[in-house]
Amino acid sequence: MAIQSIDPNVKAFLDSSPIKMIIGGEKVASVSGKTYVTTNPSDGAKLAEIYSGDQEDINRAVEAAQTAMAGPWGRMLPAEREKILRRFAELVEKNSEELAQLESLDNGKSLHHTRMIDSKVAANNIYHFAGWPSKIFGQTVPVSIPEIFVYTRREPVGVVGLIIPWNYPLIHGTQKISPALAAGNAVILKPASVASLAILRLGELGLEAGLPAGALNIVTGPGGVIGQALSSHPGINKIQVTGSTEVGRQIIQNSTVNIKRLTLELGSKAPNCILEDADLDVAIPGAFKAAFVNSGQSCVAGCRLYVQKPVYEHVVAGMLELANKAHIGHAFDTETDLGPIVDEAQFNTVTGYIQDGIQSGAKLLSGGKRLKPPSVPEGGFYLPPTIFTEVADEARISHEEIFGPVVNIYSFDTEEELIRRANNTTYGLAAGIWTTNLARAHRIASKIEAGVVWINTYDFFAPNAPFGGYKQSGYGRDNSFEAIEAVTEVKSIWVPTRQ
Ligand code: NAP
Ligand code: MG
Repeated sequence: MAIQSIDPNVKAFLDSSPIKMIIGGEKVASVSGKTYVTTNPSDGAKLAEIYSGDQEDINRAVEAAQTAMAGPWGRMLPAEREKILRRFAELVEKNSEELAQLESLDNGKSLHHTRMIDSKVAANNIYHFAGWPSKIFGQTVPVSIPEIFVYTRREPVGVVGLIIPWNYPLIHGTQKISPALAAGNAVILKPASVASLAILRLGELGLEAGLPAGALNIVTGPGGVIGQALSSHPGINKIQVTGSTEVGRQIIQNSTVNIKRLTLELGSKAPNCILEDADLDVAIPGAFKAAFVNSGQSCVAGCRLYVQKPVYEHVVAGMLELANKAHIGHAFDTETDLGPIVDEAQFNTVTGYIQDGIQSGAKLLSGGKRLKPPSVPEGGFYLPPTIFTEVADEARISHEEIFGPVVNIYSFDTEEELIRRANNTTYGLAAGIWTTNLARAHRIASKIEAGVVWINTYDFFAPNAPFGGYKQSGYGRDNSFEAIEAVTEVKSIWVPTRQ
């Protein structure tokens, strides 16, 4: 075991506790002065206190955002916005170790992962959208009316409220703030309560990059209060959320107050499909990673693994072998593959589902029980990779999102059966297909009801590839020009050209 030491800048940031919110270009305490504690899931230790906002803090943030839109930020030329965003991306790159450490400390994801992926993707997201401000074109419209010129403009939607979960704060945060700022909106970001630290540091870097006061506000506090206040505030024009379908539903209801625009990235129950002709040396480790990366606390987790009968036993044995080999431990241990579950509440949800699965008659092949010291550190909620077979299609664990290290392995006979069962879900975010038959791969991909399908790979994302869900996984897309469209209004302008 080699536990990495904490970077002195991270230590200094934690020592500034209670950590302030960012409103109107300033680091501020909550109006009420209330705080909450954020802990380290790896060992349960307190990391810092964070100011806990409420309606009054949201009111202040909305005012600051509106002032920014009416002031220098709203008037800023596209090239200037590009420069500031590029500077922001550079600062995120420069401080990537600090951001990776804060994220690993706060949500328990292995430091290897946050270094290699989260902090890098965060900088890349901002770099990508930094190029957009001068390229958000309107169109000229060839209407069939004589001597009339019609053109369109894409204008910022206004004040945008962003709500993100705890599993990938840096990625979800930058994925949402970057297009919103690139298009000239002012944003108010609410991170998840259990993992707010990296986002608060990101906000500081935004100020350091030169974002004018009120362009980027970060308000921390409970979702039931802050998320509720954001989604029902008449001064907010658009909400973009990544979270559970339940929270998405509440946001839709609250949004009726002023017909807010919405982009919703919600829950999932992704099917991952191994065909009999797959290259199993690639498919088995691929399926293992798809199910268990970030301890399964991933919206796209390939948690329903469908395997064609002739290779079923081989795949089950391979998954079991990898489960037995996985190193589970402290996020700062360089050997860790799977970190802890984020907190006790999530642990109880996941183990509740495991019990439910056992009661439904499914066979628990491995895992399922909390690991105890000395194999893991004291104070964390550690669960090994958990594998179920013989799971009924009607079982709750076949339908409801578990959001933990649990995979169900099903067998199937025909392609038609596979498609029917893979689509037998209220969700539709992601799917995987493993086969060496290219025609088959494309045929199945076209029939799967999901916003992203990976063929012979899994878990790839890019800032220029659209990402989002079908069905109750939400609507709208993050990443790509779709994300710019999502934070702009289109205006048609008509003018006669006769003398
Ligand atoms: P969650 O409980 O839905 O929380 C998400 C965010 O919403 C948090 O910031 C939360 O604040 C806030 N919130 C809670 N109640 C709210 C309310 N009434 N109004 C507005 N906001 C509210 O989800 P989570 O447990 O953090 O994350 C797991 C879920 O996110 C899973 O369902 C997963 O599939 C989904 N997810 C989806 C995607 C995707 O791209 N589709 C990606 C990742 C995760 P607090 O933290 O303060 O409660
Ligand atoms: Mg935490």
